[in-house]
This record gives sequence, C-alpha cells and structure tokens, in this order.
Amino acid sequence: MKYLTTIGLEVHVQLKTRSKMFCACAVEYGAGPNAHTCPTCLGLPGALPVMNQHALELTTLTGLMLDCAIAPYCKFDRKNYFYPDMPKNYQISQYDLPICVGGAVPLHDLAYPKDAQKSIATPDKKVGLVRIHLEEDVAKSFHYDTSTGVDFNRAGTPLMEIVTEPEIGSPEEAFAFLSSLRQILLYGGVSDADMEKGQLRCDCNVSVRPEGQAEFGSKIEIKNMNTVSGVRKALAYEVQRQTAELEGGRKLQQETRRWDDASAQTFLMRTKENAHDYRYFPDPDLMPVRTETLVTTARAGMPELPSAKRARFVDQYGVSGYDAAVLADDQDLSAYFEAAAAKAAKPKAIVNWVLNDLLSAVSSAGKGMRECPLPPQALTELVDLIDAGKISGKQGKEVFAEMFGSGKGAATIVKEKGLEQLSDTGTLEALVDQVIAANPKPVADFKAGNPAPLNFLKGQVMKLSKGQANPVVTSEILQRKLTAGEGPGGV
Ligand code: ADP
Ligand code: MG
Ligand code: ZN
Repeated sequence: MKYLTTIGLEVHVQLKTRSKMFCACAVEYGAGPNAHTCPTCLGLPGALPVMNQHALELTTLTGLMLDCAIAPYCKFDRKNYFYPDMPKNYQISQYDLPICVGGAVPLHDLAYPKDAQKSIATPDKKVGLVRIHLEEDVAKSFHYDTSTGVDFNRAGTPLMEIVTEPEIGSPEEAFAFLSSLRQILLYGGVSDADMEKGQLRCDCNVSVRPEGQAEFGSKIEIKNMNTVSGVRKALAYEVQRQTAELEGGRKLQQETRRWDDASAQTFLMRTKENAHDYRYFPDPDLMPVRTETLVTTARAGMPELPSAKRARFVDQYGVSGYDAAVLADDQDLSAYFEAAAAKAAKPKAIVNWVLNDLLSAVSSAGKGMRECPLPPQALTELVDLIDAGKISGKQGKEVFAEMFGSGKGAATIVKEKGLEQLSDTGTLEALVDQVIAANPKPVADFKAGNPAPLNFLKGQVMKLSKGQANPVVTSEILQRKLTAGEGPGGV
C-alpha cells in the first residue's frame, strides 16, 4: 500500500520594525532582560495599544510580494488564553478579517535541500496560502534551577502569521517552502528572518492517507519548530510514524506533538479533546483599518523579486540559470556581481570570478560579502585585463590574490610585478626569428608536414620571453613565418 503525505505550515515571522506592535518600545534582540518594556507591553491594567503603521505596511508589502489579495479593511481581535509569558491573558491577533488573503510562494530548485535537488517531484511548484495576519509576539520564559524568569523584551514584537494550504507534499518541499519564503522576506526587507534568533518559527501540520482515499488523514501538529533542517527531520519522522500506525491497523487522531531534537522523535502534547477555545472577539481598544493607503505605500516599496532577478541575470548577462540562481540567492552577492558586471567588457567573465575566486577568498577570510575588501570595480579591471590579453588567466589568479590582500589596483600590480604580456609584434617577431634560427631540425620537420614541432617552437619563444609572450600573437607569427617558407633572418 502506498501512502500520500499532506503538509500545511503556519509560519511566524517577526517584522523588522524599530518599535513594537502596540507601543513605542524598541525591538532589539539581545538587550538586557526587560530593558524594552512599558505598561502596554507588560499588559498592565488600563494601558492602551496604538498600532504600528510600519508593521501594517510591511505585512501589506509581504502580501503584495506573495500575490495575496489585500483586504479593503482588516481588524484586530483578542485571542483569549492563559500563558505565563502573556500577562494580559489574551493576544491581540486577527481572526476573521486578516490583512492578506490567498497568494502563493513559488519554490525554486536551489531552495530544496542539496541532496534532494536532483529529484524534485514537482518542479516550479507554487504552494498556495490561506492568509497572512498580524499579531503580537509573547514574552519569553527562562527556566533556572529553582525559579523561572520572564523577559518581556520580545512581548509585543510585530509578528506575521503566514498560513499555507495543505498543499505541501513532502518534508523536502516543506524545506524548500521555508527557504523560498525566507528569501522573499529578506528581499522585501520585511524581516531578518534569522531562525537562530527566533525571527522565523513554524508549526507543522502533517497527515498521511492511503493512496486512493479522497479525504485527508488526521492532522497532527508539531509545535514551534525553529530550524529548516529540524522541520525536515521532524516531518520525515512523523510521516514514518503515522504510516507505521496505519499499516499496523491503528487509527490516528488529531493531536499536537513536539519535536525533540536530541532523541530525534516527536512526543504527544495534547489531543483534540483538550484543544483551546480562544473565544475571539474584536479588540475594543483598536479601530478597524482601511488598507488603501497601506497598499499605495507598499507598492512603492516593492523590490525586484528573486524569480525576476534570476530571469533578468540570464537575459541581461547571459549567465546560466544555475549561476543566476546562486547569484540571486544572496542580495549582497547579486549587488556585488551587478556592480562588477555593469561596466565589464564581458559581463559573463565576471561570474566565474565572483562565484569561485571571490566567494572562496571572502569565506576563507572569515568575512561576509558585505565586508569584502575588494571593491567590484577592482574585479572588473582585473577581468578586463585578462580579456584584453594583457595578462594570462593564470597570472590573473596571482594578481587577484595580491589585490585581495593589499587592496591595490590590478593594473598597478601588473606593472609592479612586470606581468604584462608581451604583445608588441615587432619584439615578438624578433624572438620568433631567434627561435627558428636556433632550431633547424624541428623547423625542417614542420615544413616536411609534421605539425608537432609547432608547440615546441612556441614553448621556446615563451621561454625566451620569460613567459611574457602573448601566446595567441606568438602562434600567429610563428605559423605565418613557417608556412611562408621564410628561413632564419627572412628572405
Ligand atoms: P486549525 O483550525 O486546527 O488551526 P486549520 O484548518 O486552520 O486548522 O489548518 C491549519 C494548518 O494545517 C494549515 O496550514 C492547513 O493547511 C493545515 N492542514 C489542515 N488540515 C490538514 C491535514 N489533514 N493534513 C495536513 N495539514 C493540514
Ligand atoms: Mg490554526
Ligand atoms: Zn512597550
């Protein structure tokens, strides 16, 4: 019996605003405990929330980037539940009128795990979205030996919840979904989406059913995952566990589980019987929001999306689809490439230098692209020198290493090291004549119809020039002189 997997994700994204969702406290990761708090985000009685317009704009921008419909107006509701790190005992969220409805995230090949990129089940898949709504994050508990501390710095951070349709077919697709989504969020400057800092977290819903069965199997939810690789592992574990249950003739029921990374298993948290009833109702302290001006502002801030950038790189610079995807994967890298390629004689030649030499030099220097000591124009200068035949590709590597270390320009280094190739025909002709005169046997062999000595003779010219002779021009002169029947010293 074959089983089908169905996955739907609920992704939480912290927005990149300066202040919190309903108060003026700073959003800053890593500040001292409770450094950024006030009566509103501490949930003190009588404190009133005031909406953060930038958070509304960033959510609208996300909706536009993901092709959602933006609701003409939205509102905020209270989601009631008790939680030790949420002293109001309700979370301000959106229930029946979220900002964004529908939309989709396109999955691109490089977003899949490396080992799964060769076997993508549905290339160019788009995962549909149900909605995106805006809410506030809760505080964070820290458990010590005999006590628990609560840090309210995170409480009230603007949080977007992105809910997918149950359209994800495998743990690998879930991985690709999160990587693709994260890339778009970074492009829009909507969030830093750093999973290590908890800026992107998700709940994973997964079910399996026998092939041929129309209705989905029972939904199992895995709570609060905070790494993309963890999501893949937890889902793979669940698919296997659920399949084994069904194969053993047992029934599955809707439940919530948690993933334990150390033991690589999921554990039951609660079953449907004790599911929450949140008793949503409109927050009486907050007015509904008309979205018209938000849409205008967000539209003006729309970035070029990753898919558009990849296509443009192929079009404009003639790079391969794969190279375009690698370049577009990181905004700093693609900005660097474009700055270097813009004025290059052959933009395509820039790509290899950026993706091989530059990336490895930057990473072995323990730096990011942003701290790259080599300005893009310097790389253009180097690649143009090679293109014009002034230096060889091999010498280019030497110059590159020196440039990266010293910050000197390519032309300066070429001069200092005396690397410039000898392309002056007068000088080269004299060298060729010398070589022909000194090697009568190979010359005679060549003239008798054996092409092999040509390379030897060329090597002799290179040697005589201490490696500086331009190989292309040397070849031309050598062939011309030998086939024209010119002997040593000319006729
Ligand atoms: P709830 O009301 O319990 O939160 P929703 O219908 O809102 O459930 O769905 C929550 C998430 O679970 C969505 O991402 C949805 O796509 C996904 N989902 C729903 N049913 C299933 C299922 N049977 N198997 C896997 N995922 C599902
Ligand atoms: Mg839900
Ligand atoms: Zn506050």
